[in-house]
Amino acid sequence: MSRSADLEGRLRAVRRQIETACERTGRDPQEVTLVAVAKTFPAEDIRIVAELGQRDIGENRDQEAAPKVAQLADLDLCWHFVGQLQTNKARSVASYADVVHSVDRPHLVVALSHAATELGRSIDVFVQVSLDETDRPGRGGVPPEAAPALADLVAGAAGLELVGVMGIAPLGQPPGPAFARLARVRDAVVDVHPSASAVSAGMSGDLDEAIAAGATHVRVGTALFGDRKRLLR
Ligand SMILES: *Cc1c(COP(=O)(O)O)cnc(C)c1O
Repeated sequence: MSRSADLEGRLRAVRRQIETACERTGRDPQEVTLVAVAKTFPAEDIRIVAELGQRDIGENRDQEAAPKVAQLADLDLCWHFVGQLQTNKARSVASYADVVHSVDRPHLVVALSHAATELGRSIDVFVQVSLDETDRPGRGGVPPEAAPALADLVAGAAGLELVGVMGIAPLGQPPGPAFARLARVRDAVVDVHPSASAVSAGMSGDLDEAIAAGATHVRVGTALFGDRKRLLR
């Protein structure tokens, strides 16, 4: 099978899964944005899914994203930065990202705001919330109780638009309770910032649970592009 036929089938299956999950919980599939997380896969794969109508593309490392963005500059894509972001990469990411899902500390807000303002860009921002209640060093995120204050900071920052909250379900735990915690943080943020109602949650393995808990953005890599480990081997 050609890569193009493979990706077309996978994309159709993921879209169908989103529709089914929405039907089950009485939601409108239009409320859910599919972000195709293309990390480790080549720009050619992104070009194929873009031609199939998939415009929202996610990346998690600046070193990898920046050259792909340049290679695909002829397409009108919406770039989502979803990975942990070092402050010294904020300027580069601000030059191409339309949306950043992983803002989890004041320093990063300041750096992104400064860069966006200088570049004359506006960037949509999700505040990443840690959903891991254990003390394990997590995959980024501000503790839930600190999220509203960070959201206030983003909302007041020039060049940044607060759109909502993002979370990653902790490994080895059922995702439902974690996504419910994220939804409560969203409710607290929305009380103060009524337009910041988006929830970025759900990956290939927990898409259904995330949609049931109100996700508006799902970040799907493996189910769309295939197994990353196989490529790295
Ligand atoms: C890689 C990645 C995803 C996609 O994960 P899959 O399990 O491959 O769907 C989603 N969100 C973030 C932050 C990621 O780094």
